[in-house]
Amino acid sequence: MSVTVVNPATEERIAELEQAGVDETDAAVARAKEAFPAWRDVAPNDRARLLRRLATLVEEHGEELARIESQNVGKPISGARAEIGMVANVFHFYAGAVEKHYGETIPVAGGVDVTFREPLGVVGLIVPWNFPLNISSWKLGPALACGNTVVLKPAELTPLSALRLAELVLEAGIPEGVVNVLVGKGSVVGARLVEHPDVAKIGFTGSTEVGRGIMQAAAGTIKRVTLELGGKSANVIFEDADLEAAAASAPYAVFDNAGQDCCARSRILVQRSVYDRFAELLVEATRDVRVGDPADDATEMGPLISAQHRETVASFVNGDVLFSGETPSGPGYWFPATLVEASNEDRIAREEVFGPVAALIPFEDEADAVRQANDTPYGLSGSIWTRDGARALRVARAIDTGVLSVNSNSSVRHSTPFGGFKQSGFGRELGMHALESYSEIKNVYIAT
Ligand code: NDP
Repeated sequence: MSVTVVNPATEERIAELEQAGVDETDAAVARAKEAFPAWRDVAPNDRARLLRRLATLVEEHGEELARIESQNVGKPISGARAEIGMVANVFHFYAGAVEKHYGETIPVAGGVDVTFREPLGVVGLIVPWNFPLNISSWKLGPALACGNTVVLKPAELTPLSALRLAELVLEAGIPEGVVNVLVGKGSVVGARLVEHPDVAKIGFTGSTEVGRGIMQAAAGTIKRVTLELGGKSANVIFEDADLEAAAASAPYAVFDNAGQDCCARSRILVQRSVYDRFAELLVEATRDVRVGDPADDATEMGPLISAQHRETVASFVNGDVLFSGETPSGPGYWFPATLVEASNEDRIAREEVFGPVAALIPFEDEADAVRQANDTPYGLSGSIWTRDGARALRVARAIDTGVLSVNSNSSVRHSTPFGGFKQSGFGRELGMHALESYSEIKNVYIAT
């Protein structure tokens, strides 16, 4: 069985790859298991050096990797370059973390008590198609730093950057078997990793629906799981905010990556007293989003990932459309940047669209803003725009979400924790926090 990889901007075939099945998955797990004892025993300083070398190789091959990602996902090259820059930063960060992730000594009677951070063993990493290499690195970095070996399953639609990374891993001197990349279906390779008795943990990013199934299936072997799932984040604009700045930034908080972003601030909550003025500014700013050829340095928004996904996104747009942008004609899975006026009860405000569609929703006061922001099963990300510092902190504490920004829409950094509340999942990626979910604490008491 083979899989055809397509460029979503041109609909052209860019690769034809063999698909792994259950046997190949078992073989990859066996390779990772065999490689584990030696990798765990690599001296911390040497493991750090190997990860550092990988980070440097990603930098040296940055343009090549960015082009692979841009062609395979249809994302603008400028965004792809930034993502690959982050991949290198993530490996640099976890290279530095290897020797800083240590245990404690705990006062006890009659002896000494120490804790060790032990690796888990073989971990399965399952990632989606929207930020293929970026999200892979968020899992690979801490997994390898802690001394685990991995089997990485990229999304079926976007395996190319992970395959190239696997070559760079070997070039960096990381031993064979430590990182194994498998191209194959989620329902086959992914499902086998989840049930495999020799896989100690699954690090998953994807939809809440698949995440729920993984959590259930992992129960069979009491596997550890971290789940980074969907979102329906609120961008909350108060009447005292810098409206021009908030409106200039808001389109990129939802139309970046054509809205295929779990952090997309796709519910724009605006205080009623400034709603009309803000809507006017937002339409102007959205008109300026440059949609077109992803290979062009100036392009800000590309196509969606597939024809099927475009149909799903289109099914959400049937209400009060405030603005709908232009798209290129010809091939490609294009969808216009779209602003819709809605209430928080509408489907557009309840479900994750994962496309360039934002819902504008009015609110009355601070309490109403918090109520509406929290009135969702999700809790991943969000923003608060206000000039009142105390209000910013009050509202930030009151919103049930894992990652927030004030007077900004940026919330993902290699050194800070990222992850969800509620049905957006659990566990934290990035920063030192991610090391917790790729290691186990062992407590040892020594009688003296
Ligand atoms: P899916 O959940 O469909 O797929 C994610 C990954 O899981 C893919 O590699 C997929 O493989 C695999 N998979 C599918 N079925 C199974 C299964 N039964 N067992 C194990 N693995 C499986 O999500 P999408 O790829 O469609 O990505 C979009 C979704 O991901 C959105 O809902 C978005 O919110 C969420 N997401 C969340 C992020 C976060 O950090 N919270 C970040 C990015 C996306 P295959 O491709 O072969 O089907």
